[in-house]
Amino acid sequence: MKIICIGRNYVDHIKELGNERPTDPIIFMKPDTAILKNNDPFYFPDFSNDIHHEVEVLIRINKQGKSIEQKFAGDYYDKIGLGIDFTARDLQTLAKEKGLPWERAKAFNGSAPISKFIPKGDKDMTNLNFKLLKNGEEVQNGNTSLMLWPIDELISYVSRFFTLQIGDIIFTGTPRGVGSVKIGDRLTGYLEDQSMFDFEIK
Ligand code: ZN
Repeated sequence: MKIICIGRNYVDHIKELGNERPTDPIIFMKPDTAILKNNDPFYFPDFSNDIHHEVEVLIRINKQGKSIEQKFAGDYYDKIGLGIDFTARDLQTLAKEKGLPWERAKAFNGSAPISKFIPKGDKDMTNLNFKLLKNGEEVQNGNTSLMLWPIDELISYVSRFFTLQIGDIIFTGTPRGVGSVKIGDRLTGYLEDQSMFDFEIK
């Protein structure tokens, strides 16, 4: 399986990092070794001094497809979740300055904690609330209505380049409020009112 991530999908987050608003979705990937699940702790890596949390809505692909038309995108996933796109911001800033790839900053071990997945059911994917608490205090909250590219458009776009396969996960971008974590912090994520993950930084 693969993990496809979308960068700069929320205007407020683009502004907070001083980035340019993209004309097409920004796509990067993480390997399956980035996944953390079952609320396993995240071990702060020795190659960074500035790991940021980015809380994001996840979708899980349940049908293989490529060049999917937007109007059929909803047929390609039936479960959703919540995850963190951990980012070594110090390494990413260096990579951006030099125009180098982001893998070291984004795709390292444990950089993709994911929640359990729940049925999409009849949820309105264009109006989902989610939030992240750090040590019990809200640090990020978002609503999928604020996405520059809504989920169905992302599926259509991404599948022009990469065949989507059963089990693939898409990280759909983070709203504003990204910030550093340190050893001892506890991160708790909610999708609507449902607790999705709760784990520690060690
Ligand atoms: Zn992200």
